[in-house]
Amino acid sequence: MQTDALRTYCNARIIDGTGSVRHGYLAVEGARIIEVGEGDPPKSLSSGASIDLQGRTIVPGMIDCHVHLCMDAEPKLDPPLTPQDHMLAVLRAGRNALQTLHSGVTTVRDCGTPGEVDFALRRAAQDGLCITPRLLLSGQALCMTGGHGWQFLGTEVDGPDEARRAARRQLKAGADNIKLIATGGILTQGSQIGNAELSIEEMRAAVEEAHNAGKIAAAHAHGGQGIKNAILAGVNSIEHGYFIDAEGIDMMLERGTWLVATSTPVRNVVLHGTEAGIPEPAVAKARSAINAHVASFKAARKAGVGLAMGTDAGVPFTGHGTNLDELHYMVEMGMTPMEAILVATRDSSRMLKMDHLIGTLEAGKYADFLVLDADPLQNISLLRNPDHIRQIVLNGRTVLDRDTSHVLMGAAFSNVGVGAPPRPS
Ligand SMILES: [Zn+2]
Repeated sequence: MQTDALRTYCNARIIDGTGSVRHGYLAVEGARIIEVGEGDPPKSLSSGASIDLQGRTIVPGMIDCHVHLCMDAEPKLDPPLTPQDHMLAVLRAGRNALQTLHSGVTTVRDCGTPGEVDFALRRAAQDGLCITPRLLLSGQALCMTGGHGWQFLGTEVDGPDEARRAARRQLKAGADNIKLIATGGILTQGSQIGNAELSIEEMRAAVEEAHNAGKIAAAHAHGGQGIKNAILAGVNSIEHGYFIDAEGIDMMLERGTWLVATSTPVRNVVLHGTEAGIPEPAVAKARSAINAHVASFKAARKAGVGLAMGTDAGVPFTGHGTNLDELHYMVEMGMTPMEAILVATRDSSRMLKMDHLIGTLEAGKYADFLVLDADPLQNISLLRNPDHIRQIVLNGRTVLDRDTSHVLMGAAFSNVGVGAPPRPS
C-alpha cells in the first residue's frame, strides 16, 4: 500500500509500546499515526481504507541502537582500504540495512563505520536508491592511537583537542551520535578487553561537542574503569558494559546513563568458536565476558538502570537480520516478553531522544510498526523467525508484505523517513 490516504488497521491485538495491550484499531494518514483505539474504529475514519487484521498482533517497529551496517559478520574482518573497497562497502551497507529492516527493525543507530560510508548510505536512501530503516549515524568512532577498532571503523585521536576536532568533523559530516572507544575490545588483536583507552578528558571534549550540537554520545566500554571514565565524561550510553560493577551501576543511576548491553554478539562468538575461523584470542575474550555479562545485566536491571536494545550486528557471526535474537536473550536473562518489547521500542527511543517521533504507537508519531501472525507475549522467540512478521510499515509505507510478496525497493521515500534528528536535550 503506497498511498498517503487514510487507512485503518482493524480488529487487531495492539501492543502499543506503552505497556498496554488492547483489541482495536490503528489509523494511519501519510507518514503518521492519527488514532489508536479500542474496539471498532469510529465513523470519522470510515472514509479511508480498512484492513482487517483478525488474529494478528501489531507491535511498534523495533529499534536497534548498536549496529555496524558496513561489516558483514565474517569471522575475520578485512578493513576497507582502497577507494573501491569503500564503494563496495556502501553497497554492502545497503543490503545489510534492507535485511535489518525486513527482520522487523525500523530504526538503527550505526555505531561506527570506515570513512563516510554510513553518510553515503543515508544519501542513497534519501535519494530513493535503496530502502533502509531510519538511520542514526556516528561516522567514524573516536579511538586512541592503536585502540580498539582503529583498523575497521575508528579515527585515532590523542588528547582532548584532537578528540574535539574529530567529534566536530563527524558532526559536520552529519553524525547523530558520537561513538567513543573507552576500553579494549574483543576483536582488535592486542587490545585487552578490560584496559581503559580514551581518557576522561578526551571523551569529555567529544561529548561536549555532541551535546552542544543537540546530539548524543555512546561509549564502547567493557571494563570497570573505562566504564566509569565514560560515565564521568557524560556519555549518554554505555555499550556492552560486560564487566560493570556495583559502583559503576550506581554512577549510571546517578547520571541517567543508559546501558546498551548487546547480549547477542558475545554469545555468537562463543557459540561458533575457533572451528568457525574466529581467532582464538577473540574466542577466549568472549568466553571470559559472557558470565560477567549475564551477572551485570541482571544487576543493572534490578537497580533500575535504563536499558536500550543493541546487537552489534555486523561483528563476527552476528548477521544483519538476526537483530531480534536480542529479545530472546533478554527474556532468557529474566525479563518478561513485555519488558523486552518495551526495551526494544519505547526505551530505546528515549535513549536516542527520539521518543517524540517513534517508539510507541500513539497519535502523532511516525507509523513504524509490524504485523505479526502470533502473540509475542506468549513466545518472544517467534520474533527471531521473520516468517511471523507478515507486514512491516515504515513511515506510513508498507515496505514488506509477506502475504502478497510486496517488497518496496526504493524510489518512493522522501527525506522524512530517514535520519530524523534526535531531540536536543
Ligand atoms: Zn560495536
